[in-house]
Amino acid sequence: GKITIAIDGYSSTGKSTIAKKLAKALDYIYVDTGAMYRAVTLYALRNNYVGTTEDIPALIQDLPNLALKFVPNKSLGMSEMHLNGENVEREIRAMEVSRNVSRVSTIPEVRHKLVEMQQNMAGKEGLVMDGRDIGTVVFPNAELKIYMTASPNARATRRYKELLDKGEQVSFEEVLENVQKRDFIDSTREISPLRKADDAIAFDNSDMGLEEQFERVYDFALR
Ligand code: C5P
Repeated sequence: GKITIAIDGYSSTGKSTIAKKLAKALDYIYVDTGAMYRAVTLYALRNNYVGTTEDIPALIQDLPNLALKFVPNKSLGMSEMHLNGENVEREIRAMEVSRNVSRVSTIPEVRHKLVEMQQNMAGKEGLVMDGRDIGTVVFPNAELKIYMTASPNARATRRYKELLDKGEQVSFEEVLENVQKRDFIDSTREISPLRKADDAIAFDNSDMGLEEQFERVYDFALR
């Protein structure tokens, strides 16, 4: 039967690439929970709830007005994040969002809203979900949990290439610093910190190509 697969780990470990590929191979639904935290952050930036000034209570009060939706894009073969009806898939990957997302992700009311949405996505269809707290909080009973790790340098290199491809003006140092800062906040925050679930399989892919990673993870899923 179809199962729920939870993939957690630090930023830029290649979680989403593997999760997407796995979902495709198994004909499962893929959910990128980072995109949801990023969309809330974009909304918060646009309304000046975070950024140069900060008003978290106002953001919390405004949360009911924030509608998130994954809209399938057939030609891209993936879903895109829509925020109140607007396609924000591109904007949520910008450096400005990356700089503020870990802060926004420490807000219990934000997590509560998003976790509830995520739990409601489980149905008859198989699910591959990636994030930081999927195996620990969102789906503690997931049949397969994978905890991905890679060296900070390997991760920053991946993210740097992605951003350059998108035409963002960033330096490698800035990307490395952002990756390390997010990892620190994500793993030390009080609410749902990033950690390996006891029953998760640890998977270090620092020196592994995409094909090898996929084969291993696919193997786990078939067991
Ligand atoms: O996966 P991605 O790097 O896009 O996630 C962006 C940020 O969203 C993470 O650094 C983390 O702060 C937050 N996040 C989270 N819980 C999740 C997914 C993402 O706190 N399940």
